[in-house]
Amino acid sequence: MERDDHPTASEIFEAARQRLPGISYATVYNSLRYLKDAGLVYEIKFGDSASRYDRETERHDHAICNDCGKLVDFDLPDAAKLMQAAARKSRFKPDSVHLTLRGRCPDCCGGESGTGLQD
Ligand SMILES: [Zn+2]
Ligand SMILES: [Zn+2]
Repeated sequence: MERDDHPTASEIFEAARQRLPGISYATVYNSLRYLKDAGLVYEIKFGDSASRYDRETERHDHAICNDCGKLVDFDLPDAAKLMQAAARKSRFKPDSVHLTLRGRCPDCCGGESGTGLQD
């Protein structure tokens, strides 16, 4: 089963309000910022869409569906090599690398016979 545990701040707010009806959005949002600064959650930003929050803070990569916005985790074993290559090209001192695959999730591809890409 793939994990799909990347809520937006408003989803977290909705969930928090179920348990703490008086809680304000600002409180939730500030807590998230605090958790992020403490390295306990990871904030993922995709362009101008709402940030998603990730409880998995170990390095990993993401695939996002252009159609439904589904976000799944994966880990590319070669990412460390890619980071070195990117560092050489940019002349940056590498700290971390995060890959985002954009495309269409299996649900959105439906019964189509696929992209022609084989594993
Ligand atoms: Zn999709
Ligand atoms: Zn993730």
